[in-house]
Amino acid sequence: MRMDNGRIILHIDMNSYFASVEQQANPFLRGKPIGITGKNQERSVVATASIEAKKLGVKTAMSTWEAKKICPSIILWPGDPEKYADIMHRFNAIYRSFTEHVEEFSVDESFLDLTEEAQDYLGATCMAQAIRERVSEACGPHITASIGIAPNRLMAKLASESVKPNGLTVVRPHEVLNLLDQSDLEDLCGIGHGIREHLSQLGIESFQQLREFPLERLMEEFHGYGLWLHEAAWGREVVQEPSHTSEPAKSYGHSYTLPFNTNDPVVLKRYLLGLADKVAWRLRRDGVAARRISAHVRFADFSGHGEQRTSIEPITDGLRLFKIAWQILAPFLQHAPVRLVGLTASLISSDPKRTSLFKKEQHMQSVLSSLDLLQHRYGSGIWKRASTLPVEFKSRSSGFRFDHEL
Ligand SMILES: [Mg+2]
Repeated sequence: MRMDNGRIILHIDMNSYFASVEQQANPFLRGKPIGITGKNQERSVVATASIEAKKLGVKTAMSTWEAKKICPSIILWPGDPEKYADIMHRFNAIYRSFTEHVEEFSVDESFLDLTEEAQDYLGATCMAQAIRERVSEACGPHITASIGIAPNRLMAKLASESVKPNGLTVVRPHEVLNLLDQSDLEDLCGIGHGIREHLSQLGIESFQQLREFPLERLMEEFHGYGLWLHEAAWGREVVQEPSHTSEPAKSYGHSYTLPFNTNDPVVLKRYLLGLADKVAWRLRRDGVAARRISAHVRFADFSGHGEQRTSIEPITDGLRLFKIAWQILAPFLQHAPVRLVGLTASLISSDPKRTSLFKKEQHMQSVLSSLDLLQHRYGSGIWKRASTLPVEFKSRSSGFRFDHEL
C-alpha cells in the first residue's frame, strides 16, 4: 500500500470524446445534438452524446429510442472505434513528450505524474495549458479536454470532472477537503451506486460525514474497502500495489449483443471466440488463470440459458475458453434465435506459466506471448483471428485450417 505524498498528478479527460471526434471530422455535425451509437442503431445505446445533446437531456448509455423521444432532433451516428483509438494514440504521444509517467486510464482519459517535471502547481498549470494547445493543434479545435491537477489520481479526476467542458481545475493539497465538500459522494471514481446506497443506510450522505464515521465500523461494513473510503474522504488515495498478496479480480467476463438475432452456429462461434480471446487476454495481462468457465445466451424473446464448467487445468488461452463455452451452449442453440452471448472466467489463481509438453501447444504459447506484447503496446483490438472475421473461406481451396473447425 502506498500513500501519495507531495505528488502532482494531472488528469485529462476528453469532453464528449466520440461525438467531438465526429464533429471535428464532419463540419455538418458541429453545433448539433448528436449521439454516437453501435452499428445497429435500433438495438444500440448512446455511447457518447455531444455537448449539445447533453444540454437537451441525453445521457450516456441511454437507449437510442429513449434519446430520440427526449431529443427528436438528435442525429444518431455510428461509432468508428478505429478512428477513436488512432486519435487516442496521438494525444497520448503528446502527453509522453511532457512526462514518461503516463497512465492511460480509458480511451479518452489519462493520468500524468508531473511531480518531477513541473515541480510545483504553477509549473503544472503552465504544462496543462501547453498540453491543451498541442492537443488542439494535433487533433483539431473541436476536440476539447477537461483537466484536473491535484495531489493524487482520485482528486485529480474529481477536479477535472468538476468543470466541463474545457475546464482546468487546480486543487492544491490544502484545497482538497473543500473540493470534496462541494461534491456528491457518487462523483468520486470508486463510489458506485451500490456503495452509495450502503453508505446512505449508515446515515452517510456527504464526505464530511464519511470523514467523521469511525474507521473500525467502515472496515466492518466494507472490509478492505473501508480504509479506501476513509482515506478518500480525507482526500487521500490508497493505492494497492499489484502483488501476489492483493486480491485478484474474482471473475473476468464479456458479453455481446449480436447485430442481428440468429442461431447460425458459424456466426455464434465467431462472436463467442472473439469474446473468449478478450477474456483470455485480460487473464494473461493480469498474470492469472481461470478454472471455471460460464457461458450464457439470451434468446430473442429475452429468455436465457447459462451454465458453468470447472476445468482441472488452469486456463489462459482463448481457444480453450471458447471450446468449453461452446460445449456448454451448443445443445441449447436450436430452440430460438440468439440475441446475446456471454462468457465469464472465474476461480482465478495466479498463472503458474507451465510450459506445455506438446509441440503444438508450445507453438501456440509462443505465438500468444508475441501477440500479448503487441496488445500491451497498442491495446486489445490489435489482432483478430481470421476465423472471427465475417468472411466466408472456401473449404480446402483457401489453404486455411481453423483450429476450432468453424
Ligand atoms: Mg471523457
